[in-house]
Amino acid sequence: MNEAKKSASILIVDDSEAIRVKIRKVLSSEKGLFESFYEAENGIDGYKKLLEHKIDLILCDVVMPQIDGFKLLLMVKGHPELRDIPIIMLTAEEEQEKKNLGLQKGASDYLTKPFDDFELLARVRLHLKLKLLQDELMEANKQLTHLSITDALTQVYNRRYLMKMMLNEISRSKRYRSDLSFLLLDIDNFKALNDTYGHQAGDQILIDICIRIGKTIRSTDILSRYGGEEFAVLLPQVPLTGAEKVAEKIRKEVAENPFQINEDKINVSLSCGISCFLEEKVDTIDTVIMEADRALYESKKNGKNRVTISKDCLESISVHEDEDKK
Ligand code: GH3
Ligand code: MG
Ligand code: MG
Repeated sequence: MNEAKKSASILIVDDSEAIRVKIRKVLSSEKGLFESFYEAENGIDGYKKLLEHKIDLILCDVVMPQIDGFKLLLMVKGHPELRDIPIIMLTAEEEQEKKNLGLQKGASDYLTKPFDDFELLARVRLHLKLKLLQDELMEANKQLTHLSITDALTQVYNRRYLMKMMLNEISRSKRYRSDLSFLLLDIDNFKALNDTYGHQAGDQILIDICIRIGKTIRSTDILSRYGGEEFAVLLPQVPLTGAEKVAEKIRKEVAENPFQINEDKINVSLSCGISCFLEEKVDTIDTVIMEADRALYESKKNGKNRVTISKDCLESISVHEDEDKK
């Protein structure tokens, strides 16, 4: 909180330079309240300053030439990245209707001109404190969301997030008849690798493998840690043939480039099973995973370090291709 408070900034929008100078003087009298002061003499100038700088609080005159305080208020409240900045409107004593209208349109508070120095400071202090608390809460929420969807060791998505995305992507494939492929990857002989080089080396290999997979796939593909040494990649809009190419690229990238862990150069390989969404056949999370798991089992059974496509998925695709040719 103190860190954030140190760098707090305020924008004062008023067409009277005398008023801007007065406000700045009063607010500067409290040391450490604001680090930066920005000023604007009309709404449009104020809006420009808001887009250029990170502002924590706005003091805004109502009556100004061209873009007045209300118009600026509407522009700020309509902008997704500015809407949370509190605005205190500056009104004249007799403008009760304007005060009400400002509050109705989203102003946090108002101050009556000519304002009392103590009241100005007190209101500004209060709204700044609320804004900084709100920023902290939003940051904490962001971190919580990140933690809830991320695997702590590898920093790729966790299984919970994968399930959520599979649900979304399967619905999308149903609705738009779009392709959706799925890879299940399992490191070969990982237990022996842990036993030989130690658990820490094992952890580092898990991290490095995720980095390598991450570099191989597109930003729209979803990589997650499915279990201990198992990873899943969801490939929206990718047909089975494309998924096979991606899987083969990952397999080669891992098998052909030994992992440098401390002094050791370690050879690692992985096996892969591929499935895809098939209307009315492989169209649930469970069946998509089950088909990939079966194919993965085939890869292991046939000697590991290989890619296998689910038999059912492959047959259905071939049938469709034959039908298309007719
Ligand atoms: P296979 O080729 O048949 O897949 O054999 P495997 O040894 O890879 O498979 P197995 O299921 O027998 O062993 C998996 C190993 O992965 C055992 C477990 O200790 C290790 N493992 C799981 N999670 C982690 C982890 O977070 N860090 C490390 N270092 N090892 C892990
Ligand atoms: Mg395993
Ligand atoms: Mg394994």
